[in-house]
Amino acid sequence: MSGAVTLRDQFGRSIEYLRISVTDRCNFRCVYCMPLEGLPWLPKTEILRYEEITEIVRQLAPLGLRRLRLTGGEPTIRPQLESLVRMLRDVPGIEDIALSTNGVKLPDMAGPLFDAGLNRVNISADSLRAERVRDIARRDLGFDLVRSARAATAAGLAPVKINVVVMRGVNDDEIADFALLTRDHPWHVRFIELMPVGDLRELTWDHVVPTAEVLQRVAALGDLVDDPGPAQGNGPARYYRLRDGAGTIGVITPMTHTYCETCNRVRLTADGRLRTCLFGDHEVLLREALRSGASLEPLFRKALAEKPREHALLQMQVGGLRALSQVGG
Ligand code: SAM
Ligand code: SF4
Repeated sequence: MSGAVTLRDQFGRSIEYLRISVTDRCNFRCVYCMPLEGLPWLPKTEILRYEEITEIVRQLAPLGLRRLRLTGGEPTIRPQLESLVRMLRDVPGIEDIALSTNGVKLPDMAGPLFDAGLNRVNISADSLRAERVRDIARRDLGFDLVRSARAATAAGLAPVKINVVVMRGVNDDEIADFALLTRDHPWHVRFIELMPVGDLRELTWDHVVPTAEVLQRVAALGDLVDDPGPAQGNGPARYYRLRDGAGTIGVITPMTHTYCETCNRVRLTADGRLRTCLFGDHEVLLREALRSGASLEPLFRKALAEKPREHALLQMQVGGLRALSQVGG
């Protein structure tokens, strides 16, 4: 592999962005994501070592890979995450490293992660009220969004994005409170439509709040103007700003729109599978080839050749899909 060749799939979409799941485990049990008893966790021997993750990135970078996101499960519960960030930072061609986290450990980890080379962070937070956080996450770990987001900003991580999964009757009465955070803080609060994946025994379609309704409630707070959103982002969000707000308000609508036409991402599962679509069974196992020392390029090409035109969620063909925590959502 050599030269600045762009990797393209069968529809001409280039792949610049890799989401890396570093663990399938989590210290939370969010109602929309994981059953209370947990999932059948991957055996440790099947989980890629940091050196192996780095080698995959090293082989993808010459093909056009530029941006990385560490996710899970909860990435911050894997020991020494900063050493992985440091290794990835050293791969030539990688311009941007982001983290998706539930934020619990950010007050302690934001500084070391920034020092290791992390650029930015997305924090998932579904409530600003302690007892409700506990009810949604089904764990009491003292998570306080404002404290975690402040720690991220103070450490130098930017932009700080806050992802809120809106659920009717569960947290939709906090839409205004979340939106108002952007008045004084340089944060980007994004409201996400609940997706019907994983363990939804406790949630139904009645809990999905369409984005149009979210925006109506935000607009009631005052003047809302269109905004290009944070400069650094690879994601499918639309952004607005409260007039004079320090941050922005975004909406992500996986259920009522697809973003497949501009999808530029692939996912690496914790056990070394390259998934080319979040919703679907298209995956190629890299781990064995990696451990045998073989070149991975033929497998990358195979995966891309199979990247589907669009996901099947809208057709409701969702039976048997894995939870987002298992595929690096
Ligand atoms: N643990 C990290 C976190 O919570 O940010 C990273 C992994 S988590 C699977 C990634 C994102 O997926 C979170 O923002 C979470 O809210 C979102 N998510 C999980 N299940 C979802 C669902 N059924 N509908 C919408 N978003 C979901
Ligand atoms: Fe854990 Fe993130 Fe899933 Fe919540 S959404 S259970 S924090 S992986």
